Order: sequence, then C-alpha cells, then structure tokens
Amino acid sequence: MTPRMRLQPETMGSGLTSQRVRDRLVERLRANGIADERVLEAVRLVPRHLFVDEALATRAYEDTALPIGHGQTISQPWVVAKMTEVLLAAGPGKVLEVGTGSGYQAAILAALGLEVHTVERIGDLLRSARKRFRQLGLEVRSKHDDGRLGWPENGPFDAILVTAAAPALVEGLADQLAPGGIMVAPVGPSNAQSLVVLEREATGQLKRRELGQVVFVPLLAGLVD
Ligand code: SAH
Repeated sequence: MTPRMRLQPETMGSGLTSQRVRDRLVERLRANGIADERVLEAVRLVPRHLFVDEALATRAYEDTALPIGHGQTISQPWVVAKMTEVLLAAGPGKVLEVGTGSGYQAAILAALGLEVHTVERIGDLLRSARKRFRQLGLEVRSKHDDGRLGWPENGPFDAILVTAAAPALVEGLADQLAPGGIMVAPVGPSNAQSLVVLEREATGQLKRRELGQVVFVPLLAGLVD
C-alpha cells in the first residue's frame, strides 16, 4: 500500500510509541483474526499515540479503548480494524463516518486512500481531530453536526460507519447508501450492543447481518461546543 499520509520522524514516536510497538499491535490483530493486509498496513502506519492525550500515549498500542475527554473514547484497535475490514471487502470509495472522536478511525480510512467524510457533535473533539489530520497530511472532510442526519449534500456513500451506539439503526442514514453500499453500526442498549452490517443490494433492497458483541459510547442528539 502506498501511504496516503505524511510520515515524519517526529510523528513516528519512540520507546513505547515506536514503530516496533506498533508492529507488535499489528501482530496481535493478525492473531485475533484480522486478515486484510491493507488494514494491517494502515494500523502499522498511523501513529495512534497522536490521537490520545500525551499522558496516555504510552498505552496507545494496547488493544483497548482509551478516554479522549468529554466522556468519549477512542475505539479499541481491533474494533477499528474489524469495521475497516468489513467495509473494504465491499470495495468502497466514498465513506461517511458518524462520530469522529479522536479522528483515528477516519485517519485509518484516509490512509487507505478512501474519500472520507466525518461528522462529530462535540466541537472541541472535532477541532483536535482536524489538527491531527493536518499534522499527518491526511485529507478528511469533516463537519460539526448531528451525524444521525448524515451528510446528504455529499452523499450517497459507498460505506457508512457509525462509531457510537443507538438503540436501533438510524433509518435516515441507510437512505444515504449508494446501491451496493454497506453500513456498519453498533446497535442496542449499553450492555448488549451488536455490530450490525447493512448492505444495499443493486436492487435497492437492504440485507442485514450481525458481527457479534461490541461496546461503544452512545449516539446522542444535540451539538456541544
Ligand atoms: N471513531 C472515533 C470513536 C469515537 S467515540 C475514534 O476513532 O476515535 C464516538 C464519537 O461519536 C464521540 O466522539 C461522540 O461525541 C460522537 N457522537 C455521538 N453521537 C453523535 C452524533 N449524533 N453525531 C455525531 N457524533 C456523535
């Protein structure tokens, strides 16, 4: 894979944030069933330690979710890799992410050369994510809005990734899926969420399957500065 990002010595880390430690995370993901080499290469390249607070940087290559402020979390690397793998299998070009958070998932998608659109309701998190995209030379389109509305002006999308959980699938989002498009979203109450995959067949019909249990922060209404 040709990296679609600017890699500089100062963003590559050292010690517990070094390339060697990122490589170890990749091996762990591989051992846990992530098989798409493009996804593994993106995880190898994107410096996750830049997407968390400096105080947590040394934990960035553990396979766990970490706090990013405002009660939110950067998703667990395995979950990011799994969602990306499912989406890549559908061969998408234009992707919408709901819930930018730290920007890590969007960065992985952009590093893979996808056209990424991402929406976040907390302005402060979005501003930090945008700084990271700039620092890494990643092209990501983003906006401060309620992502449950999607981004109709820029749609339809080949893939929609929802990274916060709702009690039920957000119907309006599926309307922004192109024929052949795929949506991945955690659905269910906080203690029993399932990762749902929705595919829009060429005929326009929606086909649903489930990938297993996950834990995400809730999808919420209303904007926060
Ligand atoms: N993809 C992120 C995961 C962040 S956690 C990452 O890689 O770091 C989920 C994010 O969804 C949080 O930042 C939260 O503020 C955001 N969110 C929750 N409800 C939302 C909504 N209705 N619209 C947009 N973003 C939302």
